[in-house]
Amino acid sequence: MNDDNPYAAPQSSPQPPPLQHAHGDDRCWRDGAELLVRPGADLPRSCVKCGDPASEYRSRTFYWHSPWLYLLILLHMVVYLIVALIVRKPASHQVGLCARHQGQRRNFILMAWLSLVPLIGGFMFERGGMILLGVLLFLVMLFWGLLGMRVLKPKKITPELAVYAGVSPRLLASLPRYPHRRD
Ligand SMILES: [Zn+2]
Repeated sequence: MNDDNPYAAPQSSPQPPPLQHAHGDDRCWRDGAELLVRPGADLPRSCVKCGDPASEYRSRTFYWHSPWLYLLILLHMVVYLIVALIVRKPASHQVGLCARHQGQRRNFILMAWLSLVPLIGGFMFERGGMILLGVLLFLVMLFWGLLGMRVLKPKKITPELAVYAGVSPRLLASLPRYPHRRD
């Protein structure tokens, strides 16, 4: 028996495996100190804060809206919040953090929660000075915690591209330079 049947349909030559985008080869770039990613694309499996191997690698969603929208706060906080919720642009990625930066982030989250302690404490004293001090401490701890807990700082998100700051230079250095012009 001859297995080489010349009339058989040509056997397809082995296909190269589909390209893996685990490292975001063509969907993840650097531009100066900024990280550019296609919305939905995953980041490298490294800590975005320091570039060490990630001990946690999970999907996170980031939101952005035009800074002009903040003018609405002058009009009314509630109006701003409603409009911001409607028009904000989302982008989700698998993002890595090392154990050290996971711990740091947990501390910032804890601080944001603990900001309620001076607030409640100040009002329990029922004296103007203490209330003022309590509110002041509350705001400082709250915003310090909220800013510190951010994994990435969105600079701009469109359906085509998400731009982030606050990314480890080591991680950025491992990415290709963005090949296109940005407006
Ligand atoms: Zn780290």
